[in-house]
Amino acid sequence: MFPTKIGRRRFIKTTSSAFLGVAVAPIWSAGPARAKTEQMPTPEYRILGRTGLKVTAVAMGVMNCSDPAVLLRAYDLGVNFYDTANVYMAGKNEEMVGKVFREKRDKVLIQTKIRLKPTEQENRATFETSLRRLQTDYVDVLLWHALQAPEEVSNPEAFECMQKLKKEGKVRFHGFSSHSNMASLLREGAKLNFHDVALVSYNFTHTNELKEAVAIAAKSGIGIVAMKTQAGGYKTEKIGSLSPHQAALRIVLTDHNISTTVPGVTTIEQLDECVAVMGTELSRNDCGTLEQYQSFLQGRICTMCGGCIGECPHGVAHSDLLRAVMYRDGYQNDRLVQEMFGEGDRIQKIKQCAECSACSVRCRRGLDIHAQLKSVYAILS
Ligand code: SF4
Ligand code: SF4
Repeated sequence: MFPTKIGRRRFIKTTSSAFLGVAVAPIWSAGPARAKTEQMPTPEYRILGRTGLKVTAVAMGVMNCSDPAVLLRAYDLGVNFYDTANVYMAGKNEEMVGKVFREKRDKVLIQTKIRLKPTEQENRATFETSLRRLQTDYVDVLLWHALQAPEEVSNPEAFECMQKLKKEGKVRFHGFSSHSNMASLLREGAKLNFHDVALVSYNFTHTNELKEAVAIAAKSGIGIVAMKTQAGGYKTEKIGSLSPHQAALRIVLTDHNISTTVPGVTTIEQLDECVAVMGTELSRNDCGTLEQYQSFLQGRICTMCGGCIGECPHGVAHSDLLRAVMYRDGYQNDRLVQEMFGEGDRIQKIKQCAECSACSVRCRRGLDIHAQLKSVYAILS
């Protein structure tokens, strides 16, 4: 989305003209202050592509949250869109969403995700489980979870299954999510007049290739939901007194092809911090904050830039596996790492990496791929 190293002058050029020449007061310190004085931020709404749904620009990624009070706080602040998935917390995440919003179902929009399985029967069974946990008879958005290949985006069986669920009134709108190869998947989605929504990782570390694909997909009518907006939410004290998470969220929101964002919050403080970003402008201070955050992340996480896709001589999709490093070091959530490797053949793949004598793939951003994957494997085993 943005240059590898954000040059301040170049960065300013690419952001809103309202920012140019106007030193807007930094909101970074204003966020927590708002929460303390209980001044409610004014929700900013955007339209979720062809669904026509009016969604708050900052929504909630529920994935790591196990505290119902955080959801209730989000609701009180006007947040109207909640993202969960069938696999999160082995179902407990959907259960919590269901419990909290049982009496408020018509006032919130719920998005969940299921893994694409080979048969319609399996997909239906998974989805019915989600409906039961969510205590509802429909979801506003159902996504195929974590697609990786363009062929999955245009899979005719998946299309047929969603159409049936839509006709039955169990799904209002549908689409897909992805963490890797996202630009290709978005371009594929844009060619089809089919998907309503796409959920993709999108933050200041991403390349212009992804930004362009997002624009193409949005133009085709797909509502774009951005996740991983804070690039892992790394502990900010490690880079001094600056807290970069609001700045990171704000830069995502400067792209109006993004309908909404789902930062994964776990506490009321984090939620307040994110929600306070709505309706604010970008300041010069934010650019400086992001530059520091960018430097901090350099060599720590795979930004999914796509620069080395397909380079592993053993065919391992290592950038997908490297997401675990963000979960471990940024989210500090080993449970999520375990969950991620409980699916598919990822555990075999990372074992293969750990057993490699050295990695022949070279990361363009200085990440020691082999060391990172070995350290994740150590947790798993
Ligand atoms: S460590 Fe080995 S298997 Fe893993 S990505 Fe590198 S070359 Fe491929
Ligand atoms: S390992 Fe490095 S080059 Fe490869 S996708 Fe990740 S950040 Fe890009």
